[in-house]
Amino acid sequence: MEAIANMKLTKLAIFGVGLIGGSLALALKQVGAVDEVVGVGRSHTNLEQALALGIIDRVALDVADAVRDADVVLLAVPVGQMATLMQAIAPHLAAHTIVTDAGSTKQDVLALMQTYLPVAQCVPAHPIAGAELSGATAARSALYQGKNLILTPLPQTNIAAVQTVREMWQLAGAKVSEMSAAEHDAIFATVSHLPHLLAYTLVDMIVQRENAAVLFGFAASGFRDFTRIAASSPEMWCDIALANKDALLMELSAYQDKLTQLHTALSQSDADTITQIFSRAQAARQAWQTKLV
Ligand code: NAD
Repeated sequence: MEAIANMKLTKLAIFGVGLIGGSLALALKQVGAVDEVVGVGRSHTNLEQALALGIIDRVALDVADAVRDADVVLLAVPVGQMATLMQAIAPHLAAHTIVTDAGSTKQDVLALMQTYLPVAQCVPAHPIAGAELSGATAARSALYQGKNLILTPLPQTNIAAVQTVREMWQLAGAKVSEMSAAEHDAIFATVSHLPHLLAYTLVDMIVQRENAAVLFGFAASGFRDFTRIAASSPEMWCDIALANKDALLMELSAYQDKLTQLHTALSQSDADTITQIFSRAQAARQAWQTKLV
């Protein structure tokens, strides 16, 4: 187990005080790891809620005020918003300020950081924790306890900056690891982004049926478990799909091949093939669940 230094931030600026940014603020405040959290957002109501819930200490007057003398600037907005925000903050960054993010895709964020920001001070990150809920009211201090947090720094990223972001997430309860942005995007295309696309499309297929009300009326726990993530933010997931398009198109094709295999087996009443697919999946799912808990 790595030792966690006694890191303390004087000022943390959070752009996007929703589930992810808000939960980090609450976790850091709970362990006394930050003096001041300043919030920037698109929605005035959400920022007022964040203030009332003690997630942020104040709403920034403007971008310059938010970023001024911050130790860390966290971009916790949908990945499609990152370019605009990076361009807005760039002129106001102090030399010591570290910029990090929580975006679900990493190659696109990394490329934008290289384009718009002093890359030595940029530490791309992705917490592998979340929910289908959005906004400051969904934030909770325990969200990152025992969850993975992946850093995808560049070779030219300052080691001290990486260490600060690593310790920040450790103090929030996360298990921090590093990998390349390309590896990250390939892995999460398979185990996160594809499942979201499948859940959205299944629910959309049903809702467009004439008898949708009847179908939803009889849907039970299997439907609930398979489709929970279809209640996630469409903006966020459209941004993720577009940002990780190449890897996701490959995953969709692989899944289509698998569906074709099952379609063929079913049309031929090929119980052996169907049972083989189901058994392999059952064993893998049970083993995964055992390791998870
Ligand atoms: P959220 O909707 O709860 O919060 C995002 C906040 O950003 C909202 O309050 C929104 O008003 C604000 N925002 C949007 N555009 C903005 C802009 N241009 N300037 C300032 N604020 C802006 O979403 P979230 O779940 O907290 O996701 C935030 C980021 O974290 C996304 O990049 C997402 O991909 C990533 N992420 C999400 C999850 C998850 O399960 N929800 C998990 C890991 C990473």
